[in-house]
Amino acid sequence: MSDPTRPKGPKIIAIANQKGGVGKTTTAINLAAALVEAGCKVLVVDLDPQGNASTGLGIDTEDRQYTTYDLLLDDVELGEVIRPTDKPSMAIIPATVDLSSADIELISNEKRSFLLHDALRQPAMDAYHWDYILIDCPPSLNLLTVNAMIAAHSVLIPLQSEFFALEGLSQLMLTVREVRQTANPKLRIEGVVLTMFDARNNLSQQVKQDARDNLGDLVLTTKIPRNVRVSEAPSYAQPVLDYDPGSKGAEAYRNLAREILSKQMKTAA
Ligand code: ADP
Ligand code: MG
Repeated sequence: MSDPTRPKGPKIIAIANQKGGVGKTTTAINLAAALVEAGCKVLVVDLDPQGNASTGLGIDTEDRQYTTYDLLLDDVELGEVIRPTDKPSMAIIPATVDLSSADIELISNEKRSFLLHDALRQPAMDAYHWDYILIDCPPSLNLLTVNAMIAAHSVLIPLQSEFFALEGLSQLMLTVREVRQTANPKLRIEGVVLTMFDARNNLSQQVKQDARDNLGDLVLTTKIPRNVRVSEAPSYAQPVLDYDPGSKGAEAYRNLAREILSKQMKTAA
């Protein structure tokens, strides 16, 4: 993607929500794949000790010698931590359970909140020419998530179309505000994306309405439907865009990529 209006360097998006099971990892994997389809070069950073994004993109646990932990806390070559995927324009920095101890080790580290920021901006990163870096955050507002928010240009918030969806959102927004007031004044909300949406279900419609009432324009137009192909894809170590390119889930993630790309064009213009 050679857009002369694009700011120098990759756009970094943290995919965050302290609730588990809302679609963060699914969105990281499939938005990455959709951006690649649109011609972008994308790096996924797995920042969750559960390592689901790594598994979903085909990096076996025994094959994760160097991980996000090393990126943050050890002096390793980028070439060691950045792992190729099946797609030439997509790579991942995988995670393992090691990362759960990083959260504790970070507390005693003076630069603790800026480690990911600095790691992603090291000069050796330039050679990769990423268009996007997507950070898959853990289900918590811990120091790892704060690292992601400080490293990122924007936060994308998946919201599961379920009862209690909006609960906890004010805490997430408060964390974004705190990061803005301290370490990263330019941090934006990329948007809130409704996931596992079922248009025929009253509850989904209610969550959509509540989200619009509370968050206004922050709610993205694209909604990700609940789609069994989306949930099957990770066990084949594939994004749904490859596993079933014609599925509703694949189409929705293409729309999400388009919406995010067009927003960036507008910001750049
Ligand atoms: P998180 O990373 O926020 O914990 P996941 O992305 O792992 O959430 O999603 C939680 C579960 O929901 C997974 O089993 C995933 O396959 C499933 N899931 C996510 N999005 C969809 C969807 N659109 N349709 C069906 N299942 C989904
Ligand atoms: Mg996850």
